[in-house]
Amino acid sequence: MNAGSLLIRGARVLTLDEGDREWPLADVVIENGRIAAIGPDAGTAWPRPFARTIEGRGLLAMPGLINAHFHSPGNLMKGSLPGLPLEIFMLHEVPPLAPSGDGGRLAYVRTMIGALEMLRRGVTAVHDDAYHVPVASVESIDAIMQAYADAGIRATVAIDQPNIVEYQKYPYLADVLPEAERRAMDDAPRQSTEELLALYGRLIERWHGAEDGRLAVAVSCSAPQRVTDDYFAGLSALSRRHDLPFNIHILETKLQRVLGREKFGKSLVRHVHDLGFLDERMMVIHAIWIDDDDIRLLADSGCTVAHNPICNLRLGSGVMPYGKLRAAGVPICLGSDEMNTDDSVNLWFVAKTAALLHTLATPDWRQWPQPAEMLAALTRGGARAMRRADRLGQLAVGFDADLVLLDLDTVSFTPLNDLRRQLVHCEDGGSVRTTIVAGRVVYEAGRITSVDEPALRAEMRELMAGCQAQQERAGREAARLEPYYREMVLRAAAVDVGMNRWLS
Ligand SMILES: [Zn+2]
Repeated sequence: MNAGSLLIRGARVLTLDEGDREWPLADVVIENGRIAAIGPDAGTAWPRPFARTIEGRGLLAMPGLINAHFHSPGNLMKGSLPGLPLEIFMLHEVPPLAPSGDGGRLAYVRTMIGALEMLRRGVTAVHDDAYHVPVASVESIDAIMQAYADAGIRATVAIDQPNIVEYQKYPYLADVLPEAERRAMDDAPRQSTEELLALYGRLIERWHGAEDGRLAVAVSCSAPQRVTDDYFAGLSALSRRHDLPFNIHILETKLQRVLGREKFGKSLVRHVHDLGFLDERMMVIHAIWIDDDDIRLLADSGCTVAHNPICNLRLGSGVMPYGKLRAAGVPICLGSDEMNTDDSVNLWFVAKTAALLHTLATPDWRQWPQPAEMLAALTRGGARAMRRADRLGQLAVGFDADLVLLDLDTVSFTPLNDLRRQLVHCEDGGSVRTTIVAGRVVYEAGRITSVDEPALRAEMRELMAGCQAQQERAGREAARLEPYYREMVLRAAAVDVGMNRWLS
């Protein structure tokens, strides 16, 4: 008997491998966290007894979903904000004058709450671009990593820490702000390149490959306009040296298109390309206000683009040119982005929204996103962005055993006409019965098995009560600064940038 062995006997199996192979009835054999065999009699033929057998009748086995873009620090804020454009939204998300940071326990519980919501909905891996307000620390980083270790989800985590003065990240803002506000921003805490790279060094040493490879590290510059040149270069070198994914938000808003022209005299995609940093390790997040030249550069670099359609709609950022990116051969993955811009971490909704949104781009229905490509973006696409495409995102022998079992006797699949279409257009996560990460059952029959979820939820409510004063202070500060940001946003909105990604 192998303590780490598990048999799923007689399930319908959707492998989502490159050939999109499907078994009407098959066994999945799992040993030591990997898929050891798949096939109609794989379990019967297996030479060793199993530690556990799950009867698969009436269930669908498929790869777990991968949330390719997420910021766990937003987990406290689901439902808290009205619809706002990114630049005003960020006044609440990362208050530019925040005086003090998160405590370790708050960061732990906050991360955990999001991880558990994902496991419940069949998300087995998350690519977390974690920011720290106002500065990153060993304590706040370790709290996040420890939460992912304990939750049992697979996680690749970056430190997303801008390190330039707030008003330098935007066009016009320095001119619009009163002198006193500018001076306060000059004095706000920022971390040096040396300090941040030292934190990365420790993060890699302590956590990269931890939990038998379940936890990993990515680098992040947040966005090219938010970091110093030497820090940007240091991150790029780190990404190459350790083959780490490099997270970068590019051209999420029209204002950023204007900024590229004002600050660098070119598109931000071309700017990153000209610096020599645009490569296959990069996961370019959003890529909405991109032009044809940008699309060519993205395609040539081999990077992956993370599409977050619900977040983009929530913040009115515009619509990513999905069809053009796909036609250029740019690999696409899907993300929820954070809980204050999606308000849930439901990747089923993300896929459905993406599938529907891009029908607006063309009357040629043959160009519209198809269910199979949405499912691939949710799985193999995310694995590629995490630089784990050779072992994650499909049910295949030798791959990590990250999978979900869905009950086919639910409203989503009754009657069952087309499995892939119903996964994208009918399923909402409610059919997920079992979630398995690295061969370990972490959610089943309505219960998280790795930690005491009700206790964590209760603690979250308690911690939130303690945060109220700080949240109110941040709200007042955002309200004070908002008129200046509003002026900046409206000024940028009026500029002709030679393209339009809004409907109007
Ligand atoms: Zn983001």
